[in-house]
Amino acid sequence: MVDERSVLVVEDDAALASMLRDLLEGEGYTVVTASDGQRALHEGLTGDFDVMVMDRGLPAIEGLDVLERLRHKGITTPALILSALSNPADRVEGLDRGAEDYLGKPFDIDELLARIRSLLRRHAETSASIRIPGGTLDVSTRTVTLDAAARVVLSERECEFLEHLARRPQQVFTRAGLLDAVFYDADDGGVVDTYVHYLRKKLGKSCVLTVRGLGYVLGPLT
Ligand code: CA
Repeated sequence: MVDERSVLVVEDDAALASMLRDLLEGEGYTVVTASDGQRALHEGLTGDFDVMVMDRGLPAIEGLDVLERLRHKGITTPALILSALSNPADRVEGLDRGAEDYLGKPFDIDELLARIRSLLRRHAETSASIRIPGGTLDVSTRTVTLDAAARVVLSERECEFLEHLARRPQQVFTRAGLLDAVFYDADDGGVVDTYVHYLRKKLGKSCVLTVRGLGYVLGPLT
């Protein structure tokens, strides 16, 4: 699979949003745009992005409120705020409320691209480790370290499954979606239930929660 970097661009100025899309796609990124805060929140919660570029003044929900809500929900995707509000106090507020970087408008295109690359580099270093309520999954060693200090080693497939859930902690996954994404080499949906059973046995009953009639969602490690 080609490792395509994906960027969520949150910008209500249609001309600027389209310019950013062209620019980033030209650099090889996959781009999703959101033109208001509600949409941004939805995309941020359900999508799997490597970085977010976010305006502050947005319809529906203000940019920093969107970011704060995403952080609250466990979304750690690095965010760069791109805003005309760019005096030192504005920057401090943005960084304090969950942004990793802050660039004032008008901005220099090369500087924006360099800052995005820098965020992606830092993200790659830290993304092997995923925080789950009650513990941390380290994908590189396939180890779950519980806050109670116990360590649990997962099989390759168990780790892929848990990582898939943990990268999108608010999303409910259908059995069909999981078959497609994690168990693509199996032809029987029963394998999903089998692995839910394995993970629950290793990490506690609540680590994967059943959403009746819909599927599964990440739960806390106990
Ligand atoms: Ca705006």
